[in-house]
Amino acid sequence: MLVLSYVEKTCSVCGNKFIVSGKIADRELFCTLGCFSRAMKDEPQSTVLEA
Ligand SMILES: [Zn+2]
Repeated sequence: MLVLSYVEKTCSVCGNKFIVSGKIADRELFCTLGCFSRAMKDEPQSTVLEA
């Protein structure tokens, strides 16, 4: 039986809850790429990390 850890996150753009794998939980802040790009537009000084 495969055990993976998942973390429930809240999208900081639209407020949706979404589930990510624990390994990437600290870098997944948005539920979709659309939210990601919206957040980047709202905060032009944020560092954009290429996946
Ligand atoms: Zn979202």
